[in-house]
Amino acid sequence: VTLVLQVDAAGWRAHLASVRAAVPGLVPVAKGNGYGFGVEVLAREAAGMDVDTLAVGTYPELPAGAAFDGSLLVLSPWRPFLHTPMDDPRLVHTVSRVEDLATLAALGARPRVLVEVETSMHRHGIPPARLGEVAGLIEGVAFEGWSMHLPMDGDTVGQARTLAGVARQVRESPVWLSHVPVQRLGEVAPDVRLRLGTSLWLGAPSALQGRARVLDVHRIERGERFGYRQRAARRAGTLLVVGGGTAHGVGLAAPTSATTLRRRGIALAEGGLAATGLARSPFVVGGTHAWFAEPPHMQCSMVWAPPGAAAPEVGSWLDVRTRHTTTWFDEVVWT
Ligand SMILES: *Cc1c(COP(=O)(O)O)cnc(C)c1O
Repeated sequence: VTLVLQVDAAGWRAHLASVRAAVPGLVPVAKGNGYGFGVEVLAREAAGMDVDTLAVGTYPELPAGAAFDGSLLVLSPWRPFLHTPMDDPRLVHTVSRVEDLATLAALGARPRVLVEVETSMHRHGIPPARLGEVAGLIEGVAFEGWSMHLPMDGDTVGQARTLAGVARQVRESPVWLSHVPVQRLGEVAPDVRLRLGTSLWLGAPSALQGRARVLDVHRIERGERFGYRQRAARRAGTLLVVGGGTAHGVGLAAPTSATTLRRRGIALAEGGLAATGLARSPFVVGGTHAWFAEPPHMQCSMVWAPPGAAAPEVGSWLDVRTRHTTTWFDEVVWT
């Protein structure tokens, strides 16, 4: 265990409780890397939150959500080629094409479904103009509501209200959505279920701290070669080998959506997109981000201790600042 997510349990749970109290129809989302916690950890946490449904991202993620005892909603839409279970009463499918709804309705198993409406995201969903075709088909399934995945920018509330209006003409049913501010949910529809991932699990950043273990410390002389690339050190320094490599997502970053040069610069420096010999690492030594000595290895990284900073000891821990949605920590440590 060399890269851990340290969680101030009381602080984090206080935040979860405040979100829970503020959002009546809350649907926690636990998917992918589980926002740095892992889906299993979040499923166990959600089990204590008094919510009836947990959303996972994909069908393969369902086993990781098993610790949650209520309904499990799969956000990725059902497709005939996915060979998904049809007889699990806890499972709620998302259906985003008219033909898929027709297929499920014809099965006779009456699976529980949400029908997804296409938004200006244009990711998945039935176009609003075709929702009329849904009316007869939902008689063949256990229809539980409408689903929409909204963009983060633009007039999301207005769009949600308009689309919900069209859908509710077809069938009055709860509207499940994301990315609408809590205070404005009432403007969308009378019965809404808000899916939250990032702002729920990562909404109290001061309660979360990534920590990386110092695994080795080497004094390197000027001109001495080091690393896979056998580059020569341009000056004498202290090479630190720290836990956390590409297997943990270190040095990887989601492409930035930053549109200004300044924001791009920040993203580059912090995301490690350019994890070359000249990139700042996410590892903090003596108060500053240490520079990568070379691109991260599979399980560890080689960084230069900042000149003047006291070299940390083998076995000590460094703060590490990575994007939690792209980091696979070895373990969650509760403090
Ligand atoms: C990931 C996801 C969410 C949660 O998004 P956050 O931005 O993490 O809150 C909600 N709905 C759908 C369909 C998603 O895929």
